[in-house]
Order: sequence, then C-alpha cells, then structure tokens
Amino acid sequence: MAAVEIISAKRRGQSLGREAWLEFADAAANGTWSESQLAAMLMAIALVGLDDQETGWLVEAMAQTGSRIPVERFDRPAVDKHSTGGVGDKASLVVAPLAAACGLDVPMISGRSLGHTGGTLDKLESIPGFRTTLSVDELVASVREVGCTICSASEEIAPADSVLYSLRDLTATVDSIPLICGSILSKKLSEGIRGLVLDVKCGSGAVFSNEPQSRGLARALVASGEAAGLSTMAVLSDMASPLGRTVGNAIEVDEAIDCLRGDGPDDLRELSLQLVGRMLVSGGVCDEVEAGVGRATEALEAGQGMERFEKMILVQGGDPRVLSGSAGVARQGNVFVVRAIRGGWICGLDALGIGRAAAVLGGGAGGASDRHAGVRVLAVVGSEVAEGDGVLELQADDESRLGSAVEGALASITIGDEPAVSRETVLGTIGIESQRRASS
Ligand code: URA
Repeated sequence: MAAVEIISAKRRGQSLGREAWLEFADAAANGTWSESQLAAMLMAIALVGLDDQETGWLVEAMAQTGSRIPVERFDRPAVDKHSTGGVGDKASLVVAPLAAACGLDVPMISGRSLGHTGGTLDKLESIPGFRTTLSVDELVASVREVGCTICSASEEIAPADSVLYSLRDLTATVDSIPLICGSILSKKLSEGIRGLVLDVKCGSGAVFSNEPQSRGLARALVASGEAAGLSTMAVLSDMASPLGRTVGNAIEVDEAIDCLRGDGPDDLRELSLQLVGRMLVSGGVCDEVEAGVGRATEALEAGQGMERFEKMILVQGGDPRVLSGSAGVARQGNVFVVRAIRGGWICGLDALGIGRAAAVLGGGAGGASDRHAGVRVLAVVGSEVAEGDGVLELQADDESRLGSAVEGALASITIGDEPAVSRETVLGTIGIESQRRASS
C-alpha cells in the first residue's frame, strides 16, 4: 500500500494490517515518506486510535527497524525501567546505577523532553563530555563493564522512534496511547531485556492528569509489553507536583547525585527504591518487593549506586570532576525568588505550571538553550510559609527569561489555610500479580 492509501484508510477509521504498520515504521526509519506524510499518519493514529492487535503490530514494526540485542549478550538478568514522563523526574539517574549495584544489567534507552516533561538524555548531556549516542556494541560493552548504561535511540537502535518522537512533539500527538506504546516498547524490545518496570505518571505534569486515564495507559503498556513477550509491570506514581525539589537539566543531575549519596528529597528516594525493588523481583534477584526494596536501600546507603553512577559517567566520556567535591554540575546563573503572596500552607505546586516555567527559562524542552536553567522548590507541599517567604527559585543565564517565567511560576503555587493531605508517591501497581519471573 502506498503512503497516501495507508493514511487515508487510518483517517477513515479502518483497522490496518501488519504490512501497513511495517511500511509506516520502515518509512519513518528510512525516510521514504515525507515528513508531512508521517505527521499526517501520527495525527490519524492520535484521532482514530488503534485496536490491541494494531498496537501490537506497531510496537513490533517499530522495534524491527533497528537491531535487537539478544538477551544472551548480558551475563546478569537484564531488566529496565521507563517512565512515561514527568516534571523533575530524574529517577532514571538513580534507578539504573542502583539496580546495577544490586545485581541487574540495565541497558536503558531513554528519551528527550516531550512537551513540558523533562528528558533523561537532556539531563545527562549537561555533564560535560557525556555521550548519549552509543553503537550497539558500545551499549553492550558499557553494560558489561558498569552494569548499566543510559543512551538514546539512534539510527541503529529503534530508529523509527528517533524520528517519530520529535515529530510527535511538533504535532501535538504526544498523548496518544498507541504511539506511547510504540515509542516506549520499541526501545525496550531492542534492549535485550527480560523484564520491564514502567513508571506511569499521574497528575498535571504527566501525559494524563487523571487517574483513570493514567491507569488506562498503564494497562495498555503492560498488555502490549506482555504480548510482545516482555515481562512487564507498571507503578502508577504521583505527578501532581514535581518530583524532588529541582526542575531543569543540570540541577536535576545534582539532585540525583545527592540522592545516590544518601541525601536528597524523600519522594525521589522513595520512588527510586520502589522501582528498583520491583526490578529485582522481575529479574529474579529477590522474591518479594519488600525484599527488593530492602536490598536497594542497603546498596544506596553503602554508596554502591553512586559507585556505578561514577563509573557510567567515565565510560560514557563524561567529566568525572563534576562528581568530586560539592561543586556539582549546575552553574548558578541569574536568580529570581518567587515569594508567597500570603501566609498559610503550601497546598499545591502545579507540576504542569512549573514544567512550563522551566521550559521558558530554557531548562526544559530540548535543553540545549540553557542547561543550567530551571526551578528550585524552596517550600514543598505541606510546608507552612509566611507572606514573603521564598517558594520557588527561578534561575537562567538570560536574565530576560526570568521575567517571562514569573507569572506562570506564581500561578502554580496554591496556599491554603490548612495543611494539605500529602499524596502518596506510589499510587498503585498494575500487572505485578500476573508478572512472570523474568529469569525463568
Ligand atoms: N517515553 C517515551 O520514550 N516515549 C513516550 O512516548 C513517552 C515517554
């Protein structure tokens, strides 16, 4: 079928066969359709939707555009985690090295900023010299040496996603469930992993703000992963307010390093431990999630996650000096403190508003303009403030950007008369009961 016929059939609501999905994914990877045709197809998928069978074919077709690493290339159980994207979500930087320290191999292929959500690769690239584009052989060698790697999709690895991912950002098709399944699972199927733990975010800063839709996404991802032969489960986690106290590329790396050193914010630590605990069950290293979380906690406290992180930075060409002393990665630029307009309790820090403010400052989408820009949370949800107390600190190299971000940042703060009931970090899990032990 020609491109126009495929687009037209999907636009009219027809269910497409396997061949059409292979053609679409191949065209994305090899440039045989024009960008406008790919964009039109993305929009047709987003508007019409796909049935389960078509989603499975899309996932498989996108994965087939690149190399698939055989599971045998890793000595230890290979298990990964992937987030659907959030604001301040630097958990991958903690999870990958910590899981490696606990006995797993973690070949993590990550993404860049999508919409207002941050991208793990943009964060890591704020470390001078750090290389996120690796060949398949380099990826495998890094994992065999360090236990983990974090790198990008490329011409060799899940190339269809490399192309479609950025086009989705430009065509307002980020929140299409089948496209999210195709994007995430094509990367994960390429990795040679046996098990996958998904972190599906829920709240204003997530792809979906409400719990039923986030659960729907989690179920679709788990079902598609299982259908593709990957032992898959999902954790539903809170994204009503940013994760941790930083939003921006370099400042998030510093916060992840704090967490790996045993400090850092409680929510980041808690989420990371919960995710690693489940990865350890998935990989057959532990029998129960509690035991997995216990093992991850011991490794974190013994500094073993930090050791792996340092090694990963070195192996991927990053400058290790950012890890020594207290200097960190982030450079302080111009700063503006957003203050409480009244006294009371911080009841909400809207993740979407703060994510957008970070993007205005230059620290969000793309990340290239100002890797050191971002937002620091000075008063977290649940804290008591007096009028004039600092709540958010905006930072950017370009002073004019500070002014442009203030209004949105201020609007993201809700102050009430009573302390807010704080949301759990982990709101639920999907698929753990049915999870096959990945090592069996
Ligand atoms: N992460 C991805 O890799 N793709 C998506 O579509 C969303 C999050």
